[in-house]
Amino acid sequence: MSVNFQAVVIGAGPAGVCVIGELLDLGVRPIAWVDPLFEAGRLPRYVAVPSNTHTSLFGRYATSTATFRAIWEKQRQPGKQTSLEVLEDLQQDAGCPLHLAVDLLRDLTEGLKRYHQDEVSFIAGTVTYISQGVGDAGLWKVSVKN
Ligand SMILES: Cc1cc2nc3c(=O)[nH]c(=O)nc-3n(C[C@H](O)[C@H](O)[C@H](O)COP(=O)(O)OP(=O)(O)OC[C@H]3O[C@@H](n4cnc5c(N)ncnc54)[C@H](O)[C@@H]3O)c2cc1C
Repeated sequence: MSVNFQAVVIGAGPAGVCVIGELLDLGVRPIAWVDPLFEAGRLPRYVAVPSNTHTSLFGRYATSTATFRAIWEKQRQPGKQTSLEVLEDLQQDAGCPLHLAVDLLRDLTEGLKRYHQDEVSFIAGTVTYISQGVGDAGLWKVSVKN
């Protein structure tokens, strides 16, 4: 099956999540987003260690796009903290348990799924081949194995 997209983002780690937010801010759509799991990339492997990143930087990352800020607004519930609010309550100029950064990424990924499913196609799989054709206005072809 062949489908056309304005952009294809490969990977749903911290980089991929951020690129999706930036592309949506720029009005790029439809977007294909490919990852085997959509589980925050490789960061969940290291949840037992403290972060070497200051907590404030995780917060800046999570609010760096208008798309992300809108997701947090929608996720706010009385009596229940979002993962962003949990981070904001911590000392900002020190590290934090890395699982809190994982929670942040998972919540953003869930928010993108919930609120942007019309613009972003979540494709569970692995990109196996990429090429740019000379015809078709130089369209990129991306092959995905499920
Ligand atoms: C012990 C330890 C502690 C760390 N602490 C910190 C910290 O405090 N702060 C910090 O910022 N960073 C920390 N890091 C680094 C952090 O894990 C990486 O910088 C970050 O995960 C990189 O994000 P990424 O999105 O580039 O890649 P990844 O997290 O590796 O995500 C890439 C994603 O792309 C997917 N993918 C790859 N190839 C394909 C393909 N062909 N098709 C489809 N999907 C594909 C992968 O499955 C994965 O989900 C730490 C790392 C270690 C080892």
